[in-house]
Amino acid sequence: MAFNGGKSYHGSSAVEGGRLTGTTDSDYFYFFCPNCQDHHVMRILDYGNHVKDELGGTNYPDERPRQERDFTLVFKLYCPNCKLTDFVKIGNTGWQGGQLPTKRQPSD
Ligand SMILES: [Zn+2]
Repeated sequence: MAFNGGKSYHGSSAVEGGRLTGTTDSDYFYFFCPNCQDHHVMRILDYGNHVKDELGGTNYPDERPRQERDFTLVFKLYCPNCKLTDFVKIGNTGWQGGQLPTKRQPSD
């Protein structure tokens, strides 16, 4: 079955610009709802792999150590508290180091 029923899965402005955060407890990562206060944990309803196990390092062929596979995992998130449904991606085909310039400003 297609991820998200074949519908669009791009994250909204609610999760962009550093608004979606999270933490670990053991080695599991939890996403906090960007709309709710006090770190409400979002449920992960589904996921998809949108770059299929290609040879790693396509965008960074000179980086060492070389990544073994390129991937983009998409997660469908849901907040049981406020009912927000959104998407986030984790992958290794984009930024792989340095300092991220899109930090959320206190006034946002
Ligand atoms: Zn919420």
